[in-house]
Amino acid sequence: MTNTNDNPLLIHDGLPPFDCIEADHILPAMNTLLHKSASMLEELEKQIQPSWSATIEKLDTIDILFEYSWSPVSHFLGVKNSAQLRKAHEEILSDVVAFGLKLRQSRPVYDALLELKSGDAWDELDSVQKRIIETKLLDCRMAGIDLDDDKKKRFNEIVQELSQLSTDFSNHVLDATKAYELVIAETNDAEGFPESLRRLSSQTYHDKHDGASSTPENGPWSITLELPIFVPFMQFCKNRELREQVYRAFVTRASSGEWDNSETIAQILRLRKEKAALIGYETPADASLAKKMAHDVAAVEKMFDDLLKSSKHHAEHDLEELQQLANEAGQTESLWHWDIAYWSERLRENRFDYSEEDLRPYFSLPNVLKGLFDLSQRLFGMTIRKADGDAPVWHGDVRFFKLFDENETHIASFYLDPYSRPENKRGGAWMNDCLTRRRVDGKLQVPVAHLVCNSTPPVEGKPSLMTFREVETLFHEFGHGLQHMLTTVDYADAAGISGIEWDAVELPSQFMENWCYHKPTLMGIAKHYETGETLPEDLFEKVKAARTFRAGSQMMRQLQLGMIDMELHTRFNPDGEETAFDVSQRVTEKTSVLPPLPENRFLCSFQHIFSGGYAAGYYSYKWAEVLSADAFSAFEEAGLDDEQAIAKTGRRFRDTVLASGGGKHPMDVFRDFRGREPNVAALLRHNGLD
Ligand code: ZN
Repeated sequence: MTNTNDNPLLIHDGLPPFDCIEADHILPAMNTLLHKSASMLEELEKQIQPSWSATIEKLDTIDILFEYSWSPVSHFLGVKNSAQLRKAHEEILSDVVAFGLKLRQSRPVYDALLELKSGDAWDELDSVQKRIIETKLLDCRMAGIDLDDDKKKRFNEIVQELSQLSTDFSNHVLDATKAYELVIAETNDAEGFPESLRRLSSQTYHDKHDGASSTPENGPWSITLELPIFVPFMQFCKNRELREQVYRAFVTRASSGEWDNSETIAQILRLRKEKAALIGYETPADASLAKKMAHDVAAVEKMFDDLLKSSKHHAEHDLEELQQLANEAGQTESLWHWDIAYWSERLRENRFDYSEEDLRPYFSLPNVLKGLFDLSQRLFGMTIRKADGDAPVWHGDVRFFKLFDENETHIASFYLDPYSRPENKRGGAWMNDCLTRRRVDGKLQVPVAHLVCNSTPPVEGKPSLMTFREVETLFHEFGHGLQHMLTTVDYADAAGISGIEWDAVELPSQFMENWCYHKPTLMGIAKHYETGETLPEDLFEKVKAARTFRAGSQMMRQLQLGMIDMELHTRFNPDGEETAFDVSQRVTEKTSVLPPLPENRFLCSFQHIFSGGYAAGYYSYKWAEVLSADAFSAFEEAGLDDEQAIAKTGRRFRDTVLASGGGKHPMDVFRDFRGREPNVAALLRHNGLD
């Protein structure tokens, strides 16, 4: 047991001592911290006044403690996981969550904020402070703080039950997925499988059958409904009947027997409706949109319509193209659902005869970083310098950088943890805040970000060579990082990405991805790591064309999911004649060029909206794409070849989108940058759908 005096998780200033944090620091630190915070909250509630300094500022002093003591723990779960760490985290998690709830649902704080809002002191606050308070009040109302006792009791029951139902839902999907297996024993049925699919499905056979022997070359191969197997299987399996079998299993997962989600869905929708009504919203969608950038359901539906109109005939064309290819290759039947992925992949091979591997030598991490930093300089006028050694790190590969503005002032820093480390690092890529910009006792704390990627590590004296997808991902996460780091808001609740409506939060990240397709930017980066030679022009053109491959069909699929989600959370009556599956069929007829398969029960595994927090929010994917494409088009209009124009537009982007944080409604922020509200034109054009 470590003495609390030298517990690194209890140091509350400077940069976190990441090099000495260990799993056994967690419990003593968090117990001390929770105790201290509880008494701070008690004190705060006793001395509460309807003023900024007695409410938000005081709450912030508690937040700072968590930023230093708890955030590193969550961070380590992602980048330095271990059994001891998970155990300590699990042991304390419920206490941390409970305290967080108590903090957000404090009645004395709520009353003081209400009084502040209706009193004279309100006018003395700036607009960011006002928005922070209004958001807090809305959060409290949406958590049922205003309800009388009976209603509050019912509200809490619903919250509990919904939480259980969503857990059931995802467990059913998990179990149903796990239970399915198709064993392929005939080597000719595996003909055409790529090496990675052979290896994975052979390994899976071995694992599922008590270590029974299987080889990637000769099988047997186990085909399951897990995406890393299901997706390539549908793309590469030549046997149409096997594809049909697996496809049918996939779209009917968790729709019958012991894992049947049909009734779970109905009950979730019923309770969501009741919950929304209790807090004063007509539908669950209205409640969801109260905290989003999209003004209302009509605004979302207008976007759906605008995008659908332009995509449909492209999707029809996509299908004709596939049908033709299939006919030429000897398939006599009309294409049906289990043919699409297979023939799409054949078409892709015909059209873009390059592989990810061909691109790798042109994207070494040092070059990509240099290009990204140069771009940031050109666009936003800031300089990024390496500062390895200035900050303690959790692994030898982790880099540390500092950002300076045009006056050479140090404005932010970030850690970059670039490489995949399967033994203790989570997959995927993300940006997280390490420290948020805020003023503490008049002194400015500069923001610090974590950029975490899973790129290919350097091997055998070669630098890290990235796939194009990894390059895009780095740009994406860096965009999130820019918003966290270039904020000019001094209140932590609205600095950087804090307090931004989440249908707007992907704007800067997706915006940055666009630069990977900007020829001068990309060609400046893409130099062969040995010869220094630039990426061949025709390869660049193929990469660019691949971006819009079957764009109409993909757009329709995303619209379909978004529209089903919206329909279920607005007009749908859980106790009416029409079932949720009828709704799904009805919307699919409008948004698909193939008639829906009548037995399709895909809703039973639609985890995003039934267990993943995307309820009445699936549209956000497209919404944010509309914003980022429209933002990028401001640069296109200014002239992508005109460095001065790019610099000017870049500074405007920095001073609006990247600076405002959550301190302003995202529609106002967008208008500040673009001079008007967003529209779908740029997204359609970038996708070749105009
Ligand atoms: Zn993102």
